[in-house]
Amino acid sequence: MTPRHVVVVGGGIAGLAAAQRLRELGGPELRITVVEQAPRLGGKIRTGELAGVPVETGAETFLVRRPEAKALAETVGLGARLVHPAAAPAALVIDDELRDLPRRTVMGVPARADDVAGVLSPAGRERLEQEPVGDGPILGDEDVTVGALVRKHFGDEIVDRLVDPLLGGVYSGRADGLSVDVTVPQLAAAARRHDTLAGAVADCLPPVAGAPSAGSAAFGAAASGSASSVPPVFGSVEGGLSRLVEATATAAAAEIVLGKPVRELRRTPEGWRCVAGDTRTPRVIECDALVLATPARPAARLLADVEAAAAAELGVLDYASIALVTLALGGVELPQRSGFLVPATEGRTIKAATFFTRKWPHLARPGLSLVRVSLGRYGEEQVLQRDDAELADIAHAELSAVLGMELPRPRAVAVDRWGGGLPQYSAGHADRIRRARAALAEHPIALAGALADGVGIPACVASGRAAAEAVHATLTT
Ligand SMILES: Cc1cc2nc3c(=O)[nH]c(=O)nc-3n(C[C@H](O)[C@H](O)[C@H](O)COP(=O)(O)OP(=O)(O)OC[C@H]3O[C@@H](n4cnc5c(N)ncnc54)[C@H](O)[C@@H]3O)c2cc1C
Repeated sequence: MTPRHVVVVGGGIAGLAAAQRLRELGGPELRITVVEQAPRLGGKIRTGELAGVPVETGAETFLVRRPEAKALAETVGLGARLVHPAAAPAALVIDDELRDLPRRTVMGVPARADDVAGVLSPAGRERLEQEPVGDGPILGDEDVTVGALVRKHFGDEIVDRLVDPLLGGVYSGRADGLSVDVTVPQLAAAARRHDTLAGAVADCLPPVAGAPSAGSAAFGAAASGSASSVPPVFGSVEGGLSRLVEATATAAAAEIVLGKPVRELRRTPEGWRCVAGDTRTPRVIECDALVLATPARPAARLLADVEAAAAAELGVLDYASIALVTLALGGVELPQRSGFLVPATEGRTIKAATFFTRKWPHLARPGLSLVRVSLGRYGEEQVLQRDDAELADIAHAELSAVLGMELPRPRAVAVDRWGGGLPQYSAGHADRIRRARAALAEHPIALAGALADGVGIPACVASGRAAAEAVHATLTT
C-alpha cells in the first residue's frame, strides 16, 4: 500500500503542532507536507533582534497554566530552555498615572469591589457593589459579548477601565465586540450557574488570596510575573519563540514547502489535490487528507468551492490589525514593572507597553532598556495608516508622557505591523465553528488554529493536535 499523505496548509504554530502530532501518531511511514505561503515558518510567532538582543516581533509569551504549549516545548527538546517572567507587577494607566493592575479578577471582572480598589471611582465602586440578585442564572444558552454581560451587572466603569484594556491586550479588540463564550469561557460557564456576576467570578477565582487567576492573565504588557512561591503563569523559550517553531518543525519531520500559498483545493477520486504557488509555476500536491491551519479569510477562500456552507461560517470572522514599536533605550531607569495597559478612555494612541528587559530576566543587559509599545485597537485602523517613523515618534512621546520622564532618543527602533493579526471572536463564534466543522466532517478536512479555537499559543497547539488526531482517525478507518 502506498504510504498515506497528509497536507497541512499553514505553517503557524497550529499547523506545525498538527504536523508534529501526526508524526507521533503515524510514525515514520506517514508522509506529511506543510505548505506555507510566507518565506518562513511561524505565522504570528517571529523572533527578531534589536540592539543585539533577541526580541519577539509577534507573540511574546505563552500561558503555562494551560499545559499544551509548555508540553510541546518539552516534547520537542526545549524543556531546559523554558524561561519565566520576573515577579514585576503590571500597571494600568488611569488619569495618566500608573496604578497596579488588580490580580484577583477574571479578565478584569472582580468578585468584590475591594479587589479592584485603585481602579474605580467612588461611583463606579458603588455601582459594582449594588448588583441586584436575579431569580435564576445570569446567562442563558445564548452567547453574548463580555461588555454586554459585565455592563449589565457591574456598570460601565469596570468595563472601560479594566476589562476592555485587558481584552485589548490579548485581542486588540473591544469588550463590546468579543464573545464571552470564547474569550472568557470559564466565566461564561459559571454565569450559567449563578444568579449574580459576583458569584460567578468568585466561582472562577483560586482560593489563595493574592494569587492571580488564569482568567486574569492577559499576555503582552499585562503578563505579570509570579511571586516565587506561586507556580509561573507564563513562559517563553530562551533565544525566542522562533526556537519553538523550529524545534516543532524538526520533530514533525515533514516536507516543508515555503513561499507558496495554496490557491486551490480540489477533490479527486482518491483524495485531494492542492495547487500552491503562482500560476506560472504551480506546485500540485496530491494527498489523502488535509489540515487547514490558516487564518479565516484564506480558509474561507479555499473552501468556497469545496463546502460553501463552511466557507460562509468562517468568512464572518473579522481581524484587528496592530503595530508594535520596540525601542532600545540607553541610560533609562524604567519602573519595576512588566509594563502597562492603557484604557481607550484615556485618550491615548498607544494601548500597551511591555518592559521587555524588566519582565524577562534573561533579556536584561547593563545600561539597556527594551520597551515594546503596541498601537491599534479594533476599529481604529486609521492610527496605523501612518508611516513607521511617525508611529515610532508617537510611541516614544506617549511613553515619555506616561512614565513622566523625557526619554532619550532610542539607540535602535523596530516597527512591526500585523495587518489582520488578531481574530475578533464575536458572539456566536463557537456555534459558527461547530457548524463549519460539521459541514467539513464528510470531506474530511480538519480546521486548526486561531481561526477556530482561540488566540493563545496553547489553544492553537491544542487545536492543531486535535486536528491531527481527527485526520489520523479518518486515515485508519
Ligand atoms: C502581535 C501579536 C502578539 C501576540 N502575542 C501573543 C502572546 O504573547 N501569547 C500568545 O499566546 N499569543 C499571542 N498572539 C496570538 C498568537 O500568536 C496567534 O493566535 C497564534 O500564533 C496563531 O497561530 P496559528 O497557527 O493559528 O495561525 P498563524 O500564526 O496565523 O499561522 C497561519 C499561517 O498560515 C499561512 N497561510 C495563510 N494563507 C495561506 C495559504 N493560502 N497557503 C499556505 N499558507 C497560508 C500564514 O502565512 C501563516 O503562517 C499574538 C498575536 C499577534 C499578532
